[in-house]
Parts: sequence; structure tokens; C-alpha cells
Amino acid sequence: MNKKALYIASAALLLLIAACQNKDGAAPPPVSSPSAQQQTEKGDTSPQMNDTAPSQVPPDSKVQPIAAADSSANQAPAAQPASSDNKETVRQSASVPKLYKLNPKSYDIVPVDPSTTEKKVVLLTFDDGPKDHDMLESMLTTLDKHHAKAIFFVNGYRVKQKPELLKLILEHGQTIGNHSWDHIDLKKESKEKVAQQIDEVQKIVKDVTGITPQFFRPPFGSGSDEVRAKVKENQMLFMTWSNGSLDWDMTTKNNNPDKIVSNVLEQLRPGSNILMHELPWTDKALDKLLTELEAKQYGFVDPASIDITP
Ligand SMILES: [Zn+2]
Repeated sequence: MNKKALYIASAALLLLIAACQNKDGAAPPPVSSPSAQQQTEKGDTSPQMNDTAPSQVPPDSKVQPIAAADSSANQAPAAQPASSDNKETVRQSASVPKLYKLNPKSYDIVPVDPSTTEKKVVLLTFDDGPKDHDMLESMLTTLDKHHAKAIFFVNGYRVKQKPELLKLILEHGQTIGNHSWDHIDLKKESKEKVAQQIDEVQKIVKDVTGITPQFFRPPFGSGSDEVRAKVKENQMLFMTWSNGSLDWDMTTKNNNPDKIVSNVLEQLRPGSNILMHELPWTDKALDKLLTELEAKQYGFVDPASIDITP
């Protein structure tokens, strides 16, 4: 080999090494499923969620709170200093690559770059907590078992009753979202009341954990221009859902965990934004649901990997 050929070969080798290092240096996608084949897109038969008429509004009023509701939104939150652990969580969340975004019409989760990021994922969400230590811990343990991340959309009046449960959620690496203070229909409220219902939850979560929520889901999926403006002002991402488990239609006397699983699977598509609640029958269904999703090669989106910038 002459000098020129050797030089060219060396240069090519260096380029190859650089390319490999670049590839290896990229963060892995925060999903746990293996890369799956592209699915044939079915027609989008699911209803479009909008503020006027969500097709599956959870009548949360049917869900009996485990603790009595404190509807006063003005009381001072049980403030506790943020621990250094929580600051660590904030730092880690900020450094997670933003691989996904929300489709603002369907509320599905979609890759920012479909050519490099797995689209066969779901977002798991649990509303209306935090209620009960044992039930919550059981759900968190099941999520851990499946290496699954989720958003827990909390109500301020419940946080005030059991602030320690927020820390439990964070200890398991899960994400806290804002679901208003009193779980009321914000569309019917004044601008001032809307602001109070959203701001007070931001404040109590920050006071208790040191973390400011970045996701907002209105109770009953019911928003308005004012609600959206307020959520945007607080630099949060507004979402309802695209896959309703219908767990809210069940009661202590009449529930069926298997039906929760089948309800979700019937509506399943890449990017499904799955609405569940902190409820005993959902806790029972969770392990089977996550197992079935994994069997269908779905991964679980880490909420920290969702780009919330408008
Ligand atoms: Zn709710």
C-alpha cells in the first residue's frame, strides 16, 4: 500500500470511529420495549377529544373519596422544606432527552423524530390522588416491576391531607401533574377561580417536594380558553387523554379489573395516552395490563422525555 492509499484508509477509519462514538454517545430511548416493526396505521376511528365534549368523561363524583374532601382552596398548604433528593430529581428530569411530544388534537404521545424514536409507546396516567398509602405503594411497586413511568395527576385538597404521599411518588421516580385543587369543572368558573385552582396546586407541590408540576389535566377533561391560557402562563402542558380505561365507571360493589385491561387494549394504538385512576380495581388490574402491553411490544414513555415547550 502506498502512502496516499494508507492516508485515505486511515482517514476513513477515523471517520468510522467518530461516527460510532457519536452513535454510542446518544442516549437510549426511554422506553422498555424492543424496537418493533412499523404497524400498519388503521384509520383513526377514535373520537377527537375537545373541551366541549370529551367522549368519555369520568364522572369522578361517583368515586367516593377515601378521605373526606376538603373543598377549601385557600388554606395554607402543609409546607415542608424540599430535600436535596428532590432537587436531584429535578436535575435528572431536566437532563432527560426530549424524544416525545403531545399531539394537541388527539392527545396521543408522538416521537419528535419518528425516524429515530420508537412510536409504539403508551403514556400511563393516574388521576385523582393521592388517596391511600397502601394502594398507592402497591401501584408504584407494580410500575417499578415493569420499569414503567407514569404521571400522577393530583388534586390539591388531597395533597393537603396526605402530603407525604407526594414524596412516595417521587421516590419511585414517577411524575406529579396538576389536576386542580378541588376537582371542579373549571370551564364553569371565573378567571380568578381558575387561576386559584391551578396556582394553589403548583404551590403546594413545590412546597412539599421542591418540584413544580409541568403537566396539567383538567377535571372531567373540561377546559376553556381561560384554562388553557392559565396553564400556558404556568409553563405547563395541557392534556386530556386518548384512551379511557373506564375504571371510573366501576364501584366497590361492581368492578372488574379484567374489564379495565380489555377496555384499554380495545382502544390501544401507538401513542395512547391512557387515563386511569388511583382506585383499588385499577391497582388489581395494573400488573396484567402492563404485562399485556409488553407482550404487544409497547414501551412506556417516561414523562420526563416529553417536550412541553409550545
Ligand atoms: Zn379527575
